[in-house]
Amino acid sequence: MKYIELPRRVIVGDGAIHRLRDVIEELGLKGNSLVISDPTTKEIAGDNVRREIDASIYTTRGTPDSEVERILLEIKRDEIRYLIGVGGGRIIDITKLAAFKAGIPFLSVPTAASHDGITSPQVSIKRSTPISIKAHCPIGVIADTAIIRKAPERLLAAGCADVISNYTAVLDWKLANKERGEYYGDYAATLAMMSAQIVMHNAEKIMDDISILVEALISSGVAIGIAGSSRPCSGAEHNFSHVLDRICPNPALHGEQCGVGSIMMAYLHEAEWERVRDSLKKVKAPINAKELGIEDNYIVEALTKAHKIRDRYTILRDGLSREKAIELAKITGVIE
Ligand SMILES: [Zn+2]
Repeated sequence: MKYIELPRRVIVGDGAIHRLRDVIEELGLKGNSLVISDPTTKEIAGDNVRREIDASIYTTRGTPDSEVERILLEIKRDEIRYLIGVGGGRIIDITKLAAFKAGIPFLSVPTAASHDGITSPQVSIKRSTPISIKAHCPIGVIADTAIIRKAPERLLAAGCADVISNYTAVLDWKLANKERGEYYGDYAATLAMMSAQIVMHNAEKIMDDISILVEALISSGVAIGIAGSSRPCSGAEHNFSHVLDRICPNPALHGEQCGVGSIMMAYLHEAEWERVRDSLKKVKAPINAKELGIEDNYIVEALTKAHKIRDRYTILRDGLSREKAIELAKITGVIE
């Protein structure tokens, strides 16, 4: 049996936020709602959203786990019927997890386009274990491109890199199907790959037409919903990034690390690794350790540990030796 979960309404465009009231009505959402944002996204859009629909607002300040607990208390106290997450990946993740635990729906109002979590059912809050938690996808996504366009360029570049990394995630999925007989969904894989190809193809103009990136991230989230797992958008390059998150004192952004991981994994797949690298460069995402701000030894360590971080078969198979890891990172120009 397959269980496919998708958002019921997705609106992308300048001024989309002003459609929020209509969307809520169309979706039949009733009762008290709570807007979740952080101090920055409250300024950018949270207050506008609150005024638009006359809801109360909760501003996060602590760690994701403690915030989820506090939001759950608010939900109980004020009989909240649905949540509206207004922010980047972290806020959407907190909202997603709180809504899932409370058994209520939520809307996603991204203020940045830094990873595919804005539509997907997965939660990937940085923590020790586990890597990703399965929750529900948003019932609606309201992506206001006029707001997202103003997000720091670095976040948008990271979003592009996260989509580009679908390229190696799909290659890994195909490999797992071929060598391990793992379930492979053509539709989800094709959708995830197409999103990567569209971003790579439009790398030069994507910063001028942010809707391409937003649609690619939404499609990636939909691919995850169709697959019923993050497989189409998360392979060895993501494992590499997850290890960096754990071992580095100052990790880079999720999408940035996945992008650099994707260059190296594409090389191992004997695929178009130079095209991956050049596309990342065009969207102004990091292409090496130095640009990530991560020391070479962490890159090597992450490469040797990436196969162990989760039970997911990838091109790393039984893992890379230290020598092989150094060689790979050097050949692809990730370390000097
Ligand atoms: Zn990702």
